[in-house]
Amino acid sequence: MLKHNATPLSNFLQFHFKANNHLFSLARISSSSSSHSQSKMETASYMFGPYKIHNKEVFYSTHFSYALVNLRPLLPGHVLVCPRREVKRFAELTTDETSDLWLTAQKVGKQLESYHKASSLTFAIQDGPQAGQTVPHVHIHIIPRKSGDFEKNDEIYDALDVKEKEMKQSLDLDKERKDRSIEEMAEEADEYRKLFH
Ligand code: AMP
Repeated sequence: MLKHNATPLSNFLQFHFKANNHLFSLARISSSSSSHSQSKMETASYMFGPYKIHNKEVFYSTHFSYALVNLRPLLPGHVLVCPRREVKRFAELTTDETSDLWLTAQKVGKQLESYHKASSLTFAIQDGPQAGQTVPHVHIHIIPRKSGDFEKNDEIYDALDVKEKEMKQSLDLDKERKDRSIEEMAEEADEYRKLFH
């Protein structure tokens, strides 16, 4: 059983919408260097599958990868690391992308474990819809873990699955959303960004 408080409810519709992939400018994205300076983050544009990700949600980025706060975190510090290129399946990543993705996950995990005074990390990839993937863009879940955060340690995997099924329903934009506000996510990302300077 999850002990962490549920995230506040708010309307997220205005910030998340289906984007036509053709609007996604690879040129703009690839113009970002491996530097993750604030100014470059402000001008970069990020896609997470069909969703346009506000720069304020992104707290770290490299030439190939970026890290964003979660719309519906399972525990404090539950974030996602994605390749910049919109790739559905893990096997589609190039060697450079794969390597950078995991190095980024390692760096992000280390900082967030310390920030949240946790003592372990869950790294998880749901690779394909039958594995529980709801957003068709490779992403590593990084979840700082503490003793007793779930009654049974491995229930985190059930929670990932259940939450994501709920998420899939709520991503139907005709329905009322029960997600975190952009302000709350931006505030969290602001805190994490400081860890990488
Ligand atoms: P999965 O089920 O493995 O595909 O995980 C999808 C993850 O993406 C979940 O943790 C969601 O909470 C998260 N998520 C979905 N849409 C967004 C979004 N627009 N911004 C941030 N996180 C999102």
